[in-house]
Amino acid sequence: MNLTYNQVFKDPEISKALVARIREKNTRPLRLMEVCGTHTMAIFRYGIRSVLPETITLLSGPGCPVCVIAQKDIDAYVMLARRPDVILTTFGDLMKVPGSVSSLAGEKAKGADVRMVYSIFDALAIAKENPDKAVVFCAVGFETTIPTIAGAVLTAQTQGIDNFSIYSANKLTPPALAALMKTAGVEIDGFILPGHVAVITGLDAFYPIFEKYRIPSVVTGFEPMDILNAVLKLVEQNESKIPRLVNAYPRAVADAGNPKARAIMDQVFETADALWRGIGHIPDSGMVLRESFYKFDAAKKFELSMPDTREPAGCDCGRILMGLKRPDQCRLYKKNCTPMHPVGPCMVSSEGACAAFYKYSG
Ligand code: SF4
Repeated sequence: MNLTYNQVFKDPEISKALVARIREKNTRPLRLMEVCGTHTMAIFRYGIRSVLPETITLLSGPGCPVCVIAQKDIDAYVMLARRPDVILTTFGDLMKVPGSVSSLAGEKAKGADVRMVYSIFDALAIAKENPDKAVVFCAVGFETTIPTIAGAVLTAQTQGIDNFSIYSANKLTPPALAALMKTAGVEIDGFILPGHVAVITGLDAFYPIFEKYRIPSVVTGFEPMDILNAVLKLVEQNESKIPRLVNAYPRAVADAGNPKARAIMDQVFETADALWRGIGHIPDSGMVLRESFYKFDAAKKFELSMPDTREPAGCDCGRILMGLKRPDQCRLYKKNCTPMHPVGPCMVSSEGACAAFYKYSG
């Protein structure tokens, strides 16, 4: 049977051969981190953990934008939702994330105008249809989504949609990996790097971290064969003790990434320090609007200056996102914290490690 191009990357026979190679080559315990939540979900969905040798531990990393959102940013969204002059627009994943006092789902149930959108351009359309309201978009994303957010801000500027604004909790991936490597107790033998982020950043964005820490690193895609191939490459590098930064996703990632998307992103945003849940403040890891776009900045428009607030007591999201704990090692897991009644964002997000563990383990 001839396989289509896409079927090749899911082919069980190729996957079995890769598993066999991994088992043959691997001689030592390895802790490999899949940096992004999309990989976490794919790994669980395809049962990849169950076919790897017991010596290989896969850890979930800080690459799920909803999981790493700071509590104070959720509180800011709740404050905005409570304003009668605001229509708050958001991706669905954020709705149930608990803030200090409420969630967006809770505010919507009480009558706030909170609307789920599939694209920031839906939010722009809502702004056009409701000129008497301020329409705010909850901008929560990594390099994969930031260029689209920047494009929407540029569209708002060009079309004079002045009742549109964003509250940015956008973040960058490489600074988080650098922060991770400086954290006491973190032990990682290899990074499975996010293919979709690298489509924008290219391989080049990861070189400084690779050069500094010499951790085997492989950019890969999201099909079973992509992930197993990355694991094999990380095993081989660890066995040979020759670390490399490898692009195993050349069908989508160019070494230089997508310069056009980065140019749009840099035109609209600049880097700033950002607070990551459980990890803390990371220098230059956030993306905020440049001064020339302040009129689209909801934090400035509504003079929001949120204090740092405490994360939910007992929630280990931060430690899980740094590979220091597994979800089932959190004392609230499956007891006080379930997808119906989540305590932390890692149980809410469709890319969250706790949600994945809950859905697929046992
Ligand atoms: S199980 Fe719930 S409380 Fe525990 S780390 Fe995950 S999200 Fe936080």
